[in-house]
Amino acid sequence: MASVKQNTTINEYQKFVQEVYGLPNDRFFSPWDMLTNVERFMTKGLKGIRKEDKDKTKVNLLISFSWLTSMMNQFHIDLENEVWKRFPYLCSYCASCPCFCKKNKVEKRQKVFIDENKRPKTLEDFQNMFNKIYPSETRTLEHAGIHLAEEIGEFAEAILAYRGGHKEEDFNNIPLEAADLFSCFMGVFNSIRENMAKELSIMFSNNCHMCKNTPCICSFKTITEFKS
Ligand SMILES: [Zn+2]
Ligand SMILES: [Zn+2]
Repeated sequence: MASVKQNTTINEYQKFVQEVYGLPNDRFFSPWDMLTNVERFMTKGLKGIRKEDKDKTKVNLLISFSWLTSMMNQFHIDLENEVWKRFPYLCSYCASCPCFCKKNKVEKRQKVFIDENKRPKTLEDFQNMFNKIYPSETRTLEHAGIHLAEEIGEFAEAILAYRGGHKEEDFNNIPLEAADLFSCFMGVFNSIRENMAKELSIMFSNNCHMCKNTPCICSFKTITEFKS
């Protein structure tokens, strides 16, 4: 049986997703299909923000994040490393913690210095780190949601550019945009005061959250018609 523990690392979660969904993903889903699912469940999550339905936001963003993790597996990108390189306990733009981008207009991206001693261990530690860099008290949930929507657009652009030209420099933008997108998932979870690792451990306590198998045997139809 495959399951996610509350103290999961990002890496362990990515491996779990590979174990449960790697096979059906490879057989049924192109990167476009996967991206559609990241977007589809994300926008349902955003609807939850508009409707002030926290559970709707939570469940749909967990599924959206799982599809993003599937994409990371398909592209062989180590999400945890990419997130850490981009956000080493610092804002990726102003290179400070807490971020002061809004207070002092920062004109260009500053170089971040990586102190390995500060690296968070678990997914929960990463979520706490993001709350230190971007404190949820300093912005509204709607603001966090809009930022998430912005970042899925940038991620989609990076995929589009790479799939169009198959150039290495375009490929290299994908992990950067994935890390930015991840930081915005964390932002919304911090705003709704939910622990993503704990929620994933509940959703994935026993293989696939729908069919309860590893590998998942949900049909394409079940997945495309799934409502939450
Ligand atoms: Zn900043
Ligand atoms: Zn399944």
